[in-house]
Amino acid sequence: MGLYFSISALIILSIFVYTFLSKERVKNIETIIYKYLLILTTIILVFDITTGILYNMGENPNDLLYTLLSKFVLVSLVSWTFLFAFYIKCVSITNDSNYNANIQKTFLRYFIVFIFIVPFLIILNVDFDTVNNVIIPKGIPVVLTYTVTFIQIMYSVFLSIKYNKNIGLRRLKPLYAFCILMIINFGIQAFVPQAFLINYLLAIVVIIMYFTIENPDVKLIEQLNIAKDQAEKANLAKTDFLSNMSHEIRTPLNAIVGFSNLLLEDDSINEKAKENVRDIVMASDNLLEIVNGILDISKIEANKLEIIDSEYSTDKLIKELIVLSKGRLGEKPIEFKTSIDQTIPKVLYGDESRVKQVCVNILTNAIKYTKEGFIELKIDSIIKDDICRLIISVEDTGIGIKQENIDSLFNKFERVDLENNKTIEGTGLGLAITKKLLDMMGGKIVVQSVYGKGSKFTVSIDQKIVKNPTINLEEEKEVKIDKVKLDGKRVLLVDDNKINLKVAEKLLDGYNLSVTSCESGFDCIDLVSSGEKFDLILLDDMMPKMSGVETLQKLKEMKDFNIPTIALTANALTGMKEKYLADGFSDYLAKPIDKEELNNVINKYLNK
Ligand code: ADP
Repeated sequence: MGLYFSISALIILSIFVYTFLSKERVKNIETIIYKYLLILTTIILVFDITTGILYNMGENPNDLLYTLLSKFVLVSLVSWTFLFAFYIKCVSITNDSNYNANIQKTFLRYFIVFIFIVPFLIILNVDFDTVNNVIIPKGIPVVLTYTVTFIQIMYSVFLSIKYNKNIGLRRLKPLYAFCILMIINFGIQAFVPQAFLINYLLAIVVIIMYFTIENPDVKLIEQLNIAKDQAEKANLAKTDFLSNMSHEIRTPLNAIVGFSNLLLEDDSINEKAKENVRDIVMASDNLLEIVNGILDISKIEANKLEIIDSEYSTDKLIKELIVLSKGRLGEKPIEFKTSIDQTIPKVLYGDESRVKQVCVNILTNAIKYTKEGFIELKIDSIIKDDICRLIISVEDTGIGIKQENIDSLFNKFERVDLENNKTIEGTGLGLAITKKLLDMMGGKIVVQSVYGKGSKFTVSIDQKIVKNPTINLEEEKEVKIDKVKLDGKRVLLVDDNKINLKVAEKLLDGYNLSVTSCESGFDCIDLVSSGEKFDLILLDDMMPKMSGVETLQKLKEMKDFNIPTIALTANALTGMKEKYLADGFSDYLAKPIDKEELNNVINKYLNK
């Protein structure tokens, strides 16, 4: 009867072997082990069937051929057990960080034990009993085979319990099927000793396994890889497009911000017109923030956003935060409170602009989402060795956030509670960027809020303490520019865009300077080489034919060239300042030109 079982098992198994081997498979540890298990099971069945046929043909079980074949069956059985146990071990460590190295080690261990056992199976004698015309092998090799199988399976069961989550129920099915089938097998054998079904059962386990192993389709994977490449390319194209667009938008925005700021200072226009101009300034500031947000998020997605650490003055940072917040509060009936720890080190080492961006984001939100009451900016510090943990919290008495919305606040483009803040402008990018920036700087953000009462955002960032600063703290202080001293100082403005030139000229108007403008790098070089003396050059970078960087290189080739040259660019990517300094520029001004930054540059290079 056993022979018929084995023959039918072999026929069914052959279909699986054919299906599995005829198709190209992804080579992972599961498919590799499975392939060998399939082959081994087939060999076991073939040996088993051959011994059965030999016996039926009248071969004496004690003949050499018969004994040899039986021993091969035993060796194959032990190999099968080892491979199966090795499979369970491998799938139990799939999440291991040292996965590949551990697999190699495990394989070596299993292999050594296996090699140690095989000689006993081959050398020691196998006896045979004949029960009801069925031959049953006996002797030490048989006992050894059963013992090894039992130990291996018990160890696998132990692993399956210990690493249950890691392995997953799907991949445990063959092991459990093996155990159940073996118990049934021994149960049957207790009553019908000639029912020798073990080889047949192995085939069943292998067939069950076919449906449970990780068996990805090569073609599908190829298609997925192609799709992934395309998506990555599209994402890069999107990032490029966004950064180009942001540059294109910034250029006209430069003109809008520049001219409207000038109009605000113009005494010849009436208060009503000024009111409109203030709205223009506010709207263009909003637009600029949106452009910056989109640029930042696309850089984060393209992994292009960098944290650039340098020394910075904490006093200056805090002062700027307060001035900016008060400016943004406008006419709102909100009290702005501050509580600043006086022990914060004067100079820290970190990415000042990103720390500021994080704080500005939560401060701006507090202002946006609060109608009345107060907003409190609190900055504390905890100092440990040379690290200062800045704990910055912004508390408001605004609209608050529902508990269920708190988790989604940091998703990009996610704006919550829209029925209440429909009229408040926003893109839903601010907090997503804030969270990403904090992750990159090793910081944290916590939100506490009572809906309808107010919110508190607390940020903590570790920054290094600088004991011997190289930055000049005095220089950071705002100095009133002495216009008399600037009298006669000459500035050369270079920009291919006429409107931008006009904005810069107007911004420089009040300084008593003599300003010369030109529209290309070539003109700039001609002017400087003709011997005209300038005290400062403001040089746009993105110009056709010859860029600002190329122009500066040519200028630097001239003998005795030592005019401080400031890069002007609408390409406000992070790290740009460092890039321009490395290119040889003395400083960097982003467009739209900020009046205060321009003021600082003039003070630094001309007010001597
Ligand atoms: P935006 O403000 O541009 O919509 P953010 O990512 O900065 O995007 O904020 C996401 C959402 O979180 C906001 O739409 C708002 O609903 C909520 N939110 C953020 N800060 C506050 C706050 N201080 N008070 C109430 N709601 C807030």
